[in-house]
Amino acid sequence: MLATRLMAVGDIRTLEVPKPVPGPGDLLVQVEAAGICGTDRHLFRGEFPSSPGTTLGHEFSGIIVDGATAELPLGTRVTCDPNHWCGHCDQCRRGRVNLCTGNIATGLGRDGGFAEYCAFPAMRAHKLPDTLNALHGAFCEPLACTLHGMDMGAAKPGERILIIGGGVIGLLAVQLAHLAGGEVMLLTRNTSKQQLGKSLGADIAVGTDAQMRAHWPDGADLVVECAGVAATVTMAPGLARTGGRVVVLGVLPSGEQVNIEPFDLLFREVQMHFSFLNPFTHERAARLIAEEKIVVAPLVSRTISLHEAAGAIASPAPDGEVRAIIVPHR
Ligand code: NAP
Repeated sequence: MLATRLMAVGDIRTLEVPKPVPGPGDLLVQVEAAGICGTDRHLFRGEFPSSPGTTLGHEFSGIIVDGATAELPLGTRVTCDPNHWCGHCDQCRRGRVNLCTGNIATGLGRDGGFAEYCAFPAMRAHKLPDTLNALHGAFCEPLACTLHGMDMGAAKPGERILIIGGGVIGLLAVQLAHLAGGEVMLLTRNTSKQQLGKSLGADIAVGTDAQMRAHWPDGADLVVECAGVAATVTMAPGLARTGGRVVVLGVLPSGEQVNIEPFDLLFREVQMHFSFLNPFTHERAARLIAEEKIVVAPLVSRTISLHEAAGAIASPAPDGEVRAIIVPHR
C-alpha cells in the first residue's frame, strides 16, 4: 500500500510499504480522510520530536476492515484518538493522561493515517455515523484538543471571548465559544479567515490587537491563543481584562521564549493556562462532529492524494488555506 513517511528531518516521501497487520487489540481501518496539521510540518522541519521512518497522520478517520469487535464491527466508521497513554505512570495514575510519559501517539510514535490503511488500538477508536461526510471525521482530533483548551478557559454565557488565530484550531474555538454563549471576537490577519470566522459564530473579526482594543477597551474575559507564534502568545495576556483568563493552545518551537511581564499578570490577577492534547475529550468531539453542532465543511480548503501529500507537508500552507485533507482512496 502507499504511505507518506517521514524518513528523517527534511526528508518525507510517499512510497510502497507493507499493509499493516493489526496486533492484539488493534483495529485495521481503511483510511478515508486525514488532515495535515501544523505539527506535521513542525515534524518535517525538526521542530518537534519525531521517530524516523514513521508514517505521519494523527488526524484521521476510516472504516474498520480487520480486528473487529462486538462493539466495533466490520464496516464501522471510526475516528482515531491518536494518543495512547500507558495507564501506569505517575501522571496517568493522577488522571493527567495527556501528560503520560509513555504516550506513543499514532502518526507520531507509530504509523499513522497518511496511508491507505492504518492499525491502531481499538480502545482509541470512537464511532462515527455512516451518514457523515467522510472528510469530516478528520476534524475530531483537532476539535478534541480545542475542547480541552476551552474546558480550561471555562467560558460563561455573556463573557467576552477573544480567539487569536484563524486556522482550524481558532475556527473550532470560535464555534465552541459561540456555543458557550459568549460574545466572540476573532483576531486573525487574513481577511478571508476573518469572514469565515464571522460565518461560524464570531460577532466581530479584526486583524490587529489595536483593532481588538478599539472594540473592547477593557479587554476580554477569556483570551484563547490559537496562532502558535511568539507575537500572539506575547500579546495574549495584555488583551485579557483585569481578573481575566488566558489559555494558550498554540505550540511554539521547543526553546523559543516570549516576553511576558509577571508584574502585570500579578497585579491584574490574570490567569494563564496552557492546554496540551485531548484528555477524555475525543468522544465529545466525535459527537459534536457527528451531530453537526460544529461545522467543518468550510474548513476543508482542498483534498489531495497520497502522491501529493509529501509535497504539501514539505511546503508552508498556501495563504488562506485552513485544512488540506488527504484522501488515500480516490
Ligand atoms: P494554523 O493553521 O497555522 O493556524 C494558525 C493561524 O494563526 C493562521 O491561520 C494565521 O492566520 C494566524 N496567525 C499567525 N500569526 C498571527 C498573528 N501574528 N496575528 C494573528 N493571527 C496570526 O494552525 P492550527 O492548525 O489552527 O493550529 C494552531 C496552533 O495550535 C498551532 O500552533 C498548533 O501546533 C497548535 N495545536 C495545539 C494543540 C494542543 O493540544 N495544544 C493541538 C493542535 C494544534 P492569519 O494568516 O489570518 O493571521
